[in-house]
Order: sequence, then C-alpha cells, then structure tokens
Amino acid sequence: MIRPDAPVLLEIRDLHASVGDQPILHGVNLTLREGEIHAVMGRNGSGKSTLSKVLAGHPAYQVTGGSVTYRGENLLELDPEIRARSGLFLGFQYPVEIPGVSNLEFLRVATNARRGQRGEEELDTFAFEDLVRERMQLVQMDPAFLDRSVNEGFSGGEKKRNEILQMALLEPLVSILDETDSGLDIDALRIVASGVNQLAGDANTTLLITHYQRLLDLITPDYVHVMAAGRILRTGGKELALELERIGYDWVDEALAQLEANPAELNAGELNPGQSTPVEVA
Ligand code: ADP
Ligand code: MG
Repeated sequence: MIRPDAPVLLEIRDLHASVGDQPILHGVNLTLREGEIHAVMGRNGSGKSTLSKVLAGHPAYQVTGGSVTYRGENLLELDPEIRARSGLFLGFQYPVEIPGVSNLEFLRVATNARRGQRGEEELDTFAFEDLVRERMQLVQMDPAFLDRSVNEGFSGGEKKRNEILQMALLEPLVSILDETDSGLDIDALRIVASGVNQLAGDANTTLLITHYQRLLDLITPDYVHVMAAGRILRTGGKELALELERIGYDWVDEALAQLEANPAELNAGELNPGQSTPVEVA
C-alpha cells in the first residue's frame, strides 16, 4: 500500500559511492516508508548491488557524497553489524558458503544479537530450535539444513530460501533483497515470494532488487524504480515493471544521453523522487 503519511524508515539522499577510485553511484534518491514494498530494476551493471552493499556497510565501497538516514539516524556512521542488529537486512545476490559454521548456530547467534538489540531475552538452544523449525515452514525448508554448514553445498534455490529464513528470524525493519529471484525455478520462486509476502507488514519496508517482472507477478510492489548508470532514472507504480517487460531497457541509453545534455532536469527529478506520480517511460 502506498502510504505517503507513514513514517520514513530509510531516506537515501543524493548518494554517491565508489569502489576503489571508480565512482559507481551518482546521486541515488529513495524514500522507504513503513508498509511499503519497492522494486529497483535495471540492467546488469547499473549499480543495484552496489547500492545494496553500500547500505549494508560493505567495506570495499566508499560513500563519497550524500546521506542515508535510518529511523532518523545517520546510517553511514554505523558499523555493518550495528546496522544488521538494528534491523537492516541484506539478502545477498550470491549468498556465501561458510564451511565449518553450523547453520543452526549461525542463525541462533544472529537471532540473539537482533533480540538483544530489541531488549528481548536470548533464546537457548531448545527455545531457538522451536522457533527456527516454525519459521522454516514459511520457506518449506527441511530441518536437515540446520545441521549443515551455512550454505555449503546448498543449491541456488536452497541458498535463497536460507536467506529468507534469516529474514524470518531477524524480523528486520528494512529488508533489501538483491536478486532473490535469480537462479530459482518457478516452484522455489513461489515459495520465496510467499515468504517475503508473509513477512512484509505495516511496520517494515522491503526493497526488492530484480531484473525481471516474474518476481513482481508474485510480490506486488508499491513503487518501481529504474536504475541506470548509478542513479534512479524513473519511478512509477507496478505498471512500470510491466512496461519494462514489454519494451525492455533500450530507452535507457537515450534517456541517459538526454540527462547528460540537460543535467538540470536530472537534478529536478532527483530532488523530487516523484514517488506518488508514476513517470512515463517513453
Ligand atoms: P548490478 O547489480 O546492477 O548488476 P553492480 O552494482 O554489481 O550492478 O555493478 C555496477 C558497476 O560497478 C559495474 O560496472 C561493476 O563492474 C562495478 N563494480 C561493482 N562492484 C565492484 C567491485 N567490487 N570492484 C570493481 N568494480 C565493481
Ligand atoms: Mg547485482
């Protein structure tokens, strides 16, 4: 639901970021409010994963300008683990395997860190096992995956389900899901989407990063943003994703060239993200 009056959870303003000496984000603006689902779409290499990693605090990426405010606080000053504990969650495009670390222990320690931040008591092994088994049903995961090392030897779909399981346990306020749909067959996609839908509520916000419409057939976004060359080029409603499905991304180059020629137009668009007015693509 579009809720222009709902409290803002995450406010990204004119965000610039580099990796090494290469600038990648060139002024991203996004406002995520409680209860909203946003989709960021765009071609490969447009900066979607970079945005997600900058928000999570990946040390390889340097913020060179702009601001990110999370619940009124300067997010960029917080260590990555504090961000995570405070309710910012990143589901990785490529979840890492951690051999030798039990999935059950990993999930328990992470869950307890988050609970501690919220002033809730830690769960012991037994209490946690009950909770995790309950949450695993959300993504139809077999409890056998608890006894294995984190993601080790998991299929692509199993890794993505494990990411959503983490999300279900951590109960984040801002969930950024980077191409959670990639590499999933249609059954796994349905399961993952149903998990995300059940976790999305009035008090949290979800940022879905995706390349394809098919995830958005299952999770209805309130806003769709098109990212190109490290910035948000267009914002619209869910129909923008359908439009992209039809016309592809060829128009992006022309739109970028127009902006180069007339940067004032870009700045106007950026300062007013226009989230309540769908923008025409053509
Ligand atoms: P997307 O997720 O939209 O496909 P990325 O954010 O992964 O895009 O990449 C945007 C650009 O930044 C690409 O040109 C990519 O090569 C570059 N990039 C991203 N991360 C790194 C990195 N760690 N080192 C060098 N270049 C990077
Ligand atoms: Mg990516």
